[in-house]
Amino acid sequence: MTSSAVPAEPRCLVWFRNDLRLSDHVALTAAARNGLSIVTCYVYDDTVDDAPGGARRWWLHASLRALSTDIAERGGDLLLRRGKAAAQVASVAVANAVAEVHCLKSHTPNGRIAEAELAKLLAARGIKLVLHAGDTLFDPEQIRSGSGQPLKVFTAFWNACVRSGSVGTPLPVPSKLPFVRSVVPGDSLDAWALEPKSPDWAGDIRAAWTPGEAGARARLAAFAAGPLHAYRAERDRPDREGSSRLSPHLSFGEVSPRAAWAAAAGRNRGENEAAFLRELGWREFARHLVWHWPRFPHESFRAEFRRFPWRDDAAALARWQRGQTGYPLIDAGMRELWHTGWMHNRVRMVAASFLVKHLLVPWQQGASWFWDTLVDADLANNAVGWQWVAGSGADAAPYFRVFNPLLQAQKFDPDGHYVRRWIPELSALPTEFLHDPSAAPESALRTASVVLGQTYPVPIVAHSAARARALAAYARARGNGSSAR
Ligand SMILES: Cc1cc2nc3c(=O)[nH]c(=O)nc-3n(C[C@H](O)[C@H](O)[C@H](O)COP(=O)(O)OP(=O)(O)OC[C@H]3O[C@@H](n4cnc5c(N)ncnc54)[C@H](O)[C@@H]3O)c2cc1C
Repeated sequence: MTSSAVPAEPRCLVWFRNDLRLSDHVALTAAARNGLSIVTCYVYDDTVDDAPGGARRWWLHASLRALSTDIAERGGDLLLRRGKAAAQVASVAVANAVAEVHCLKSHTPNGRIAEAELAKLLAARGIKLVLHAGDTLFDPEQIRSGSGQPLKVFTAFWNACVRSGSVGTPLPVPSKLPFVRSVVPGDSLDAWALEPKSPDWAGDIRAAWTPGEAGARARLAAFAAGPLHAYRAERDRPDREGSSRLSPHLSFGEVSPRAAWAAAAGRNRGENEAAFLRELGWREFARHLVWHWPRFPHESFRAEFRRFPWRDDAAALARWQRGQTGYPLIDAGMRELWHTGWMHNRVRMVAASFLVKHLLVPWQQGASWFWDTLVDADLANNAVGWQWVAGSGADAAPYFRVFNPLLQAQKFDPDGHYVRRWIPELSALPTEFLHDPSAAPESALRTASVVLGQTYPVPIVAHSAARARALAAYARARGNGSSAR
């Protein structure tokens, strides 16, 4: 078929978004069942304020490559377009004279705007837009309090989800997928230049991950066969592989939340399975919050934090970003993030807390660094994670609970394996001094070739003074008006 020909057979269009998979894809399955030939497309919209950061652009390239291959093996062709999502999808739909466009519903503010714009553009041409659920386990619109309000407390939210009904079984890849090629051409993936070239900083990230649906399924299967059995105790240990590391796969939709749920809920559900499902529950809760409060990703939910006396401290922010705070657990986490595009959840909490409480840097600046460096950067999870830590969120850790980085390190990295892995310049220090080198005797530092201030920084702030400063700042913010939204 030539590029401008009108297709002979009736068609529909499946628009892939953050759902780069073929299995348990409700929109694709619905399209396959309606008897029309299927055109597929993906739009890279870098005009929006939540366009992917650097690490995610690397992942997106690899994931689109994998999805294109999976579709090509079934006789189709993933059409790639760049630009405003609604306009691009509408133009592909019109050119292919499709009867319907199918996609999964988004929970993000920009995703919802794109859906509304697309519905209008398509309606003007007599084309139907069919939105399907699939990014969440439960419909964020349906989960409400007894009085019909959206829920702000996780436990109440999760209980309401669990009460609302069963999650259902994941769908297989449809056995018949009548894919056809688009009549209009798309972009070449390489032309988007999503991968870093000079310098190519993605070497360690590449070694750590296998983007794409096959990689996601392999990771889920390996987790279900192993770490899941001890998840409750081990998930908090950054020195071990105790959690699933499914987050980038889930955030790109290479595996559906329902498939992740089924891997744990389908077996005899014990405390480990329940703990894992509860974390999937936090993912749901984050989407629920962003759905009902679209400003949540950018603005403190609790009013007193909008007038908090944050500090504008570019030098401190840079030391935190580079893993040079002088607190080994935090520096290890920030370096793990830089090298692999991922950071362990426990360390995310401690490192984020350090930035907003010890250094009094606004949580948005930390969230923005995470956005650029995490392969799993996710608008809802990132904002909810940061606001939980800052104490500014809906169901957040109280502000006065300031993590002590030294105690956290001793508790969760007791043998120092995690810190030694990411901070080689401290690796020869005995474990008793590893997490607090500034308290080590001169002889121990000398033997380990550590020169504080030269080979490893002295702490950027003293914990107790920083804690007192944070509490005083919070008292000032609270004194300035009402404490809750
Ligand atoms: C400051 C901060 C920022 C964060 N930013 C992100 C982010 O951008 N993207 C992201 O996916 N997660 C984020 N998280 C949540 C959490 O740290 C990661 O989801 C988790 O570390 C991913 O590892 P895993 O896949 O091994 O998790 P597992 O423990 O195996 O959990 C399974 C899945 O549940 C979900 N999940 C687990 N914990 C949380 C949580 N606290 N909140 C929401 N969902 C959760 C994730 O999808 C995860 O893949 C953030 C947490 C904090 C404290």
